[in-house]
Amino acid sequence: MAEAKAGELMEKIVSLCKRRGFIFQSSEIYGGLNGFWDYGPLGTDLKRNVKEYWWNKMTRLRDDVVGLDATIIMHPRIWKASGHVDTFSDPMVDCKKCKARFRADQMHEIPCPQKPSKMASECDGEKTEARPFNLMFETVVGPIRSEENVAYLRPETAQAIFAQFKNVLETSRQKVPFGVAQMGKAFRNEVTPRNFTFRSREFEQMELEFFIKPDEAVEAICGRVAVPAGPGHPGEPQPDWGWQMWHQYWVEERIRFYEEIGLPRATLEEYWQKPEELAHYARATVDLLFKFPFGTQELEGIAARSDFDLSQHQRFCGKPMTVFDEELKAAWPKLAPAKQDELRERYYQARLKYLTKAGEPAEKAAQLARQDAEGLTKGYYVPHVIEPSAGVDRMALALLCHAYSEDQAPDEKGKLETRVVLRFHPRIAPIKVAVFPLLKNKPELVKKAKEVRDLLRPHLSVFYDEAGAIGRRYRRQDEAGTPFGVTIDFDTLGEKGPELQDTVTLRERDSMKQERVKIADLVAILTEKIR
Ligand code: ATP
Repeated sequence: MAEAKAGELMEKIVSLCKRRGFIFQSSEIYGGLNGFWDYGPLGTDLKRNVKEYWWNKMTRLRDDVVGLDATIIMHPRIWKASGHVDTFSDPMVDCKKCKARFRADQMHEIPCPQKPSKMASECDGEKTEARPFNLMFETVVGPIRSEENVAYLRPETAQAIFAQFKNVLETSRQKVPFGVAQMGKAFRNEVTPRNFTFRSREFEQMELEFFIKPDEAVEAICGRVAVPAGPGHPGEPQPDWGWQMWHQYWVEERIRFYEEIGLPRATLEEYWQKPEELAHYARATVDLLFKFPFGTQELEGIAARSDFDLSQHQRFCGKPMTVFDEELKAAWPKLAPAKQDELRERYYQARLKYLTKAGEPAEKAAQLARQDAEGLTKGYYVPHVIEPSAGVDRMALALLCHAYSEDQAPDEKGKLETRVVLRFHPRIAPIKVAVFPLLKNKPELVKKAKEVRDLLRPHLSVFYDEAGAIGRRYRRQDEAGTPFGVTIDFDTLGEKGPELQDTVTLRERDSMKQERVKIADLVAILTEKIR
């Protein structure tokens, strides 16, 4: 029952998205292409607003994060170093009867194409053994189709940040701890794209790689490593923070971000991956999940990835990814010899573990780890990283699902009818304010309304609408999620006396309350409300 309701709700959302121009099937006129979606006029602005807010919050409003905009196709060695060529795959299963293909771990959720009343896992067709299917899209660079010219469409934006780490460090005058943010397209040849845009084959990511000092360096400099005292936001970053503090900080910062765009904490779930679920290099990963109508699913992952990524690139490209830390160099000689030994040994063991897991022969691993440990004593280390990685499309879908609601509102004759309304937070609403002349056939009203539109336009996105009864126009904007409506009527023209002249009604979408405000105050009132 609950499932049927959720399915019904999802259908309503998908159909609203199409009807109002939020999201269309890609290549629809040719029957569509599975796993690809286009954003229509309203969807484009919704996505743009989400990205802009993320970019502002993550880079412009901070001193310690800078941006990057890298290419989608990069040197294929990057994907060898990152592990994607060898291990970025899902287990795939074929049904010998109906020839359908499934992700082995999703067969209990996907209906069998021949017997849609049954899930793929229950249908009686014999299944092949699960085999790995690499999710990267391949392409060829240059005019010759040969093995050595194969390249990949990036399956994540993050790797470019690691590959450009040194360039960014040298040109931005940043010092560890600092971050590099990037947003852009990513591509994954998902075995079974589904749940509308949730699992697409082309999507956008917003990723931050926040580089921090290894705990041994923090301890050498500060004499201690702060760890979280309990749950919650740990406050302003401090020099003695170890990776656990930084990780918790970014989890909480990201939750705040979601609250600020209108997804309250209660709609999210924090899932701390269990030790056996973690990638071998990850120290902790928190998935932020959202309660979608089709289930509680990942919106964003926040991973403490140790120094794995930069270390991998250092080994694969043969160039050092270490940074020089003045503070560490100055602090080291002041440490008691026992402390020096302890920190050196800890760092040595951590590097040895990484190098061994990476497949270096024992002797070489020990030699490299010793060099790294010596480097630490002189102020050198490979930075560790905390990575909050979010999907724009999943975020937009979560916002649409959370905003969708139906209530009762009076029609032209005062009779109650069902109203569909997208209760977007004004910050991310595609249109902020709609401007309506009460009547279309009164030139004075139209002229005044256009003046108001032009007054507002430089400050926020405005939609001007003069077609149809005013109630219908309100409904259209409610469905688009426009938080405010401004109506120009005869009072605005001063027909009822000078005291109401140059005032308009300002209607609020959710409460449907209307207040009379001066045109001269509109910009200030509205910009304050959408800030
Ligand atoms: P999932 O387990 O759902 O496949 P993932 O753990 O592989 O996701 P990551 O590699 O951590 O995802 O990617 C970071 C973010 O990118 C995800 O949290 C999600 O928001 C987004 N993302 C990943 N794959 C897709 C996809 N196929 N379609 C849309 N967004 C995606």
